[in-house]
Amino acid sequence: MKGQFQSKTSGESPGERPSKLRLVVLGSGFGSFSFLKQLNIAAYDVTLISPRNHFLFTPLLPSTIVGTIEFRSIIEPVRHVHSQLKFYMARAQAVDMGKKLVQCRSVGDRQSFTLPYDRLVIGVGEGTNTFHIEGVEEHALFLKELSHGRRIRTGVLKLFEEVSLPTSTYEQKRQKLHLVVVGGGPTGIEIAAELHDFVVQDVCCYYPDLEPLVRVTLVEAGEEILTAFDQRLRQAAERLFKRQRISILTGDPVVSVNAEEVRLSSGKVLTYGLLLWATGNAPHPFVLNLPFPHSPEGRLVVDQFLRIPGQKDIYALGDCAAVKHQHLLPTAQVAMQQGKYLARVFNGKYKNRPFVFRSLGMLAYVGSDRALVESRGLHVSGRLAWLFWRSVYLTRLVRLRNKVRVLVDWLLNAVFGRDVSQF
Ligand code: FAD
Ligand code: NAD
Repeated sequence: MKGQFQSKTSGESPGERPSKLRLVVLGSGFGSFSFLKQLNIAAYDVTLISPRNHFLFTPLLPSTIVGTIEFRSIIEPVRHVHSQLKFYMARAQAVDMGKKLVQCRSVGDRQSFTLPYDRLVIGVGEGTNTFHIEGVEEHALFLKELSHGRRIRTGVLKLFEEVSLPTSTYEQKRQKLHLVVVGGGPTGIEIAAELHDFVVQDVCCYYPDLEPLVRVTLVEAGEEILTAFDQRLRQAAERLFKRQRISILTGDPVVSVNAEEVRLSSGKVLTYGLLLWATGNAPHPFVLNLPFPHSPEGRLVVDQFLRIPGQKDIYALGDCAAVKHQHLLPTAQVAMQQGKYLARVFNGKYKNRPFVFRSLGMLAYVGSDRALVESRGLHVSGRLAWLFWRSVYLTRLVRLRNKVRVLVDWLLNAVFGRDVSQF
């Protein structure tokens, strides 16, 4: 590992040491962003490293794939957090615990540099799992980042324009207008729900001849969808999907993919025009390469104070961390609570107080202005749940500017329909 740390050291000249503790934070997601928002930044010399210069509100990301919400409405530039926050758009690549250095590589020109730290907070999240299934990387579309949302939206609109051409035969239209979503967790369900809404609310107006040919199919490896939700809510989602003419294939995992077809383990073959992949999280390669204990899922094991065991200056939070003896799902609410907790530790407010997660429940959008709400013993599905879903996420958005933008997007689309321009 030593050879990797030969590049430029950023921030200070040799021998010079700032009076404040150097705090390096990795990642600009729910965990790190909540941490920075609550941290007394003036008390530290803080540097944030992330390949993206914004925070992304992922719960509303599925709404961007067909333009229910515009992309800029759900992001917040990290430079808005504090004027004293230093930010470098780069990826952390390795950590030298002996010398207390983080090795980074810039996103643009891929230059390497190192950063010294006194305290390190790791919140790099996770990737999407492909299970190394043949063809998935090449042919499927994922949904984790804003750029993914843009790719899907472009893909959907391009597809409808292509099959509208007079050169497209009936059989080609039928085959290409099959939208296949793989993974029956909340991400896959919300993707299928948005695609369905687009078809019934917009395709019927702008491409009336194509509407009867559009099919949405959800493929799930297990016997049931949405296994994290209560049985009644799962069944409500299944009933609604059936009414919406979204086919659900369960108990039949995808085993291979090519440019036109998805093959299932039963031997069934589905031809598709667009393939969306949401089969859960995969460990981050940077995290896997760190010489610390990992959970079976490849997350960094941390104690109840979010510290890496045996490393008193290194903390991890969010999806990339697994708190010992606590089984927490990789969700935004866990990452956010951990960020807030850690900021209080760094601000000196919590001494020897462990992290305790308080579940606020679970929500999911299932299409046709309906949602599922599971909170404090309450299990509600339908329109009321949808209103609750919308109001919760509206209030949770970072700034007033985001809230206004999302509200305006919802209103404009309700009145004028979605924008179907492809560029
Ligand atoms: P992330 O938010 O993923 O952030 C990781 C950060 O690390 C990013 O800024 C990334 O650019 C950065 N990074 C990556 N590699 C490096 C590197 N090498 N060096 C430095 N930085 C790096 N959860 C809910 O509770 N409710 C929901 O409704 C919900 N909806 C979701 C919808 C979708 C489509 C998705 C994908 C997830 C959803 N989640 C939801 C899950 C939630 O988004 C995650 O649990 C949460 O984002 C985890 O926060 P995090 O900070 O650990 O990681
Ligand atoms: P997930 O792990 O919840 O679900 C993935 C699904 O894909 C599983 O049901 C799995 O059986 C299935 N699968 C795996 N391999 C498959 C294959 N080869 N073929 C077909 N199906 C296959 O993943 P997710 O939905 O991306 O969610 C990730 C995390 O983010 C979870 O913790 C979730 O709670 C959170 N999240 C929450 C919300 C919400 O609360 N509304 C929304 C999105 C994500």
